[in-house]
Amino acid sequence: MLEIVPLGGLGEFGMNMLALSWGETTIVVDAGVMFPDPDMLGVDRIIPDLTYLHQKGRAAALVLTHGHEDHIGAVPHVVPFVEGPIYATPLTLALVEPKLREHGLLDQVSLVPVRPRDRVSVGPFTVEFVRVTHSVPDCVALAVHTPVGVIVHTGDFKIDQTPIDGEHLDLHRFAQLGSEGVLALFADSTNIDRRGFTGSEREVIEAFEEIFTSTAGRLIVAAFASSIYRMQILVDLAAQFDRKVAFVGRGMVENSQIAQRLGYLRIPSGVQIRDSEVSGYPAQDVLCLTTGSQGEPLSALSRMAIDDHRHVKLGPDDTVVLSARAIPGNEKSIGRVINHIARRGAEVIHEGIKHVHVSGHGSEEELKLMLTLVRPRYFIPIHGEFRQLSQHARVAGRVFAGRDPKPDILLAENGDILHLDAHGGRLAGKAPVGRVLIDGTRTGEVADEVLRDRRHLAEDGLVVCVVAINKQTGSLEGVPDIITRGFVMENSLELLADGGRLLGEVVEHANIEERTDQGLIKEKLRVELRRFLRKRSGRRPFVLPVIMEI
Ligand SMILES: [Zn+2]
Ligand SMILES: [Zn+2]
Repeated sequence: MLEIVPLGGLGEFGMNMLALSWGETTIVVDAGVMFPDPDMLGVDRIIPDLTYLHQKGRAAALVLTHGHEDHIGAVPHVVPFVEGPIYATPLTLALVEPKLREHGLLDQVSLVPVRPRDRVSVGPFTVEFVRVTHSVPDCVALAVHTPVGVIVHTGDFKIDQTPIDGEHLDLHRFAQLGSEGVLALFADSTNIDRRGFTGSEREVIEAFEEIFTSTAGRLIVAAFASSIYRMQILVDLAAQFDRKVAFVGRGMVENSQIAQRLGYLRIPSGVQIRDSEVSGYPAQDVLCLTTGSQGEPLSALSRMAIDDHRHVKLGPDDTVVLSARAIPGNEKSIGRVINHIARRGAEVIHEGIKHVHVSGHGSEEELKLMLTLVRPRYFIPIHGEFRQLSQHARVAGRVFAGRDPKPDILLAENGDILHLDAHGGRLAGKAPVGRVLIDGTRTGEVADEVLRDRRHLAEDGLVVCVVAINKQTGSLEGVPDIITRGFVMENSLELLADGGRLLGEVVEHANIEERTDQGLIKEKLRVELRRFLRKRSGRRPFVLPVIMEI
């Protein structure tokens, strides 16, 4: 009997993960993270609860569909539960590698590169890789051949008929699988509530041509560090419009290097410069590709926006383009960054103003086409909140109307155990699922949210710092106050006095925009005080900054 359990990504966007088991053999498909809301202080990332994998014994393989964080971000946390190799395409593996290195896991797991149409055997399973198009190169769907039939898992996809790298979605193979018979289809539901077709990555070129033509100063484009197609489009335009390209921000620099090394990003010689060289070129000769499209307070764009970036300054002739979707929940932070940029006099262009972003996920018509091609016996919508999953189910009902026998549509949620055997498929109980919050200060530590906070508090106590800032001038009012609970040190008084002084300096050294921006200054105070306490006391109390605007 085949057992399939979605461990994440159903009922939420992010942390996509699914387990397939036959007897003793388990395969894990994807291991993604979800990013926390900005108000979840001290939480860096969220991963699925891995209890089910623990119960199953170590998995025989981890198979990855593509290199987005919501599919590979939790790989270092899942590797301890995997005995066999990680199978993925070369770019996906290259994006996983630094994560494994960071966690000291690189020599504990073998990374096996695969190509579309390759097949690998894992116990009773044969996993076949099928090319799909998305917003990052080298994406695959999976056709898992099991003893009871073929399971198709689309991964993330859209149908881009003019892909930047010329690698088309393998419609032929999906059709072939469909005509040979597919037992169950698990398909991406992200954009089911958008009508029509999503459109090709190429669609942004026109808007960017206009922007290149009309910008007199520097051009700054913020995008996701994984948007390698977008990088290629912008590099080509820069070459065409005689601008040098600088990658700014750690993720952007790293990923552009990986993509170049593997041949997914081609930069004509003489076009690329370092971020430290930007100031040496006339403004109209430079394009900066940067991180920070979500308004992340510590990102390169946020630094530029408050005139605090070492190499890139913004001025009135410059144009800043946000070439990414605003992930729900980030609107406030993004708005804040736009305000800061506007204050520098630069123009800000986003999706709402010009067509500078295209989604990587297929809209309704593309998702229908996939259903038509694969025509499975069972259809299970994945990747989406419950409303997207149920809408996808409704659309599938229309696609399959009149077909005999009519495919069964199973609306599953995380942890639902799906059993498939000779008699058919059914939901058979619930596996333990949930969210685990990861705190970046303790690499690799996994604990439940409440437990994590409690443990922080229990072991190292709570430190609240109260800083009063004049709303108009941004200047410090009085001496910062530090209140502790459960945090006792030998030289506490001296330590706290030093800490208070440090906070005063942090505020004084911050520029006026940072000081009058609660989000920015809070984060800065939290990071600095945490670092100070760790260095001086070796402990990591829960640090909670409170800003009083006077
Ligand atoms: Zn993706
Ligand atoms: Zn995804």
